[in-house]
Amino acid sequence: MIELKKEVIKYAQKLNSTNLSPLRSGNVSVRVIRDNVEGFFLTPSGKRYEDLIPEDIVFLSLKEEYDNLKLFNTSLNPSSEWRFHQDIYRKKIEAKAIVHAHSPHATAVSVHGKSIPAFHYMIALAGGDDIKCAEYATFGTTELSKNILTALEKRKACLMSNHGQVAFGTNLKQAFELAQEVENICHQYIIALKIGEPKILSSTEMNKILDKIKHYKKA
Ligand SMILES: [Zn+2]
Repeated sequence: MIELKKEVIKYAQKLNSTNLSPLRSGNVSVRVIRDNVEGFFLTPSGKRYEDLIPEDIVFLSLKEEYDNLKLFNTSLNPSSEWRFHQDIYRKKIEAKAIVHAHSPHATAVSVHGKSIPAFHYMIALAGGDDIKCAEYATFGTTELSKNILTALEKRKACLMSNHGQVAFGTNLKQAFELAQEVENICHQYIIALKIGEPKILSSTEMNKILDKIKHYKKA
């Protein structure tokens, strides 16, 4: 358990040390079963990630509602964005870890409410032939969770309008790397748009790529 908490801290600090999210923006979680209760470890609010210690990492049950949160808490409150972490774990059994970031290029694309088309085959890493942008809703709300889950249909990552991005994986490393890929793709997309309208790969080609990725992962 403590090892997993340390891993959450490691990746929360990596949000700061890479280009993904400065200071306290962004958050990280990992699915866990504690005392037979299904839930997840999540970064707390109100503390700089560089100062985090394992005791600060908050456990939340998948069933828990806000009023009961104190049952499982440390002295710190969970990230104010706990709700969409909980909802993603509830709806997507394949999600074992989640990284949410206000990374600059993903956020820049998100403020246009734009999905990213298949201008590059690496789009397929998110699970399909585009990366969708969830509609805007206030942070921490059920509405935002719903919008994110819609954008995550058959996907492992999405943008969040006027906010940032979220990615999940089978472990923290995978979720974090996917968030980095999304940031990189958004950066490339912005550059590509500066010199005109990018050519978009056909759905036949993208299906080929998606198939290749599936087999590559199994190998
Ligand atoms: Zn956020």
